[in-house]
Amino acid sequence: MPTILDGKQVRDAILASLRPRIAALEEAEITPGLAVVLAGANPASEIYVRHKVKACVDLGIYSEKHLPTVDVTTEEMLFLIRSLNDQPHIDGILVQLPLPDHVDDREILMAVHPLKDVDGFHPMNAGNLMTGLPGFRPCTPAGIMRMLEHYKIPIAGKRAVVIGRSNIVGKPMAMMLLHANATVTICHSKTVGLAEECRRADIVVAAIGRPGFVTPDFVNPGAVVIDVGMNRLHDRESVARIFEGNEKKLADFAAKGTVLVGDVHPAVFRDCAAYTPVPGGVGLLTIAMLMSNTVESAELRLARRRGTSIS
Ligand code: NAP
Repeated sequence: MPTILDGKQVRDAILASLRPRIAALEEAEITPGLAVVLAGANPASEIYVRHKVKACVDLGIYSEKHLPTVDVTTEEMLFLIRSLNDQPHIDGILVQLPLPDHVDDREILMAVHPLKDVDGFHPMNAGNLMTGLPGFRPCTPAGIMRMLEHYKIPIAGKRAVVIGRSNIVGKPMAMMLLHANATVTICHSKTVGLAEECRRADIVVAAIGRPGFVTPDFVNPGAVVIDVGMNRLHDRESVARIFEGNEKKLADFAAKGTVLVGDVHPAVFRDCAAYTPVPGGVGLLTIAMLMSNTVESAELRLARRRGTSIS
């Protein structure tokens, strides 16, 4: 039987490790602070932001929401980000993506001060990751590394295939696996012989954005499969095709009109060594790592105050 890599267990372990660190900061009269910027009314983004703010409240992290309207200009967004950069009580700035189409998201992400870039998207932090220097790491791949560590999954010397090369997931994931001494292959939409590449892997990370794309012919039976995909199915036909014979999923769909599915086809989970479920796997770790980066940023603030840090 494959091992189910349970995101809830890992999330709870991450959050539990943060509580004493937050208490130590409070003793030094520092409350970690996170500013969340959500431009325009995007229902999915609003849900993510609500979850992030709730995670802050549960942990005792200060949070504030900034909600520019959908017609906000790039200049107005830059003004907001720069003013947050200057706020001493704010340790992390999170700009919820996607931004409205007319806003230059590259310019906005570049404007977040690297020491407050708790999403790890600033090129300086990307460079820090690339060169193995300290810096904020993107939350989703950082959470996956915690997951592999938690379940003591060996990485060094293993072949890892990452499908997807986004700056948010695929590329930083590949870099983190490389730093952990895996032999890493990055695949993407132009990869020839994708299934064959994947079959050679001991660890497969799927970060594609296509429901049930990775089928059993992609996966060597002993592999560890990490499913980053979060795809919403809205039609019964797709649900019935991907979850063939799974009455519970069909009942869920009948009740809610939608079902969440990863990038990995459920049939893969019968034969692999271990896998992350969707939901209940990787998705739970991203916010926990955001909290972790915010606490780390507050610790750096304390270290600067005490003159024990050069950053
Ligand atoms: P993205 O920016 O759209 O990148 C998708 C990547 O998949 C691209 O590199 C693309 O290749 C590749 N790809 C697309 N079609 C492919 C194909 N047919 N064969 C091989 N590769 C293909 O997406 P993302 O932001 O990385 O997110 C990926 C998935 O993870 C999405 O489902 C997203 O919702 C989910 N996600 C989950 C979390 C979480 O917390 N669990 C966080 C972030 C993202 P090209 O570069 O060649 O186009």
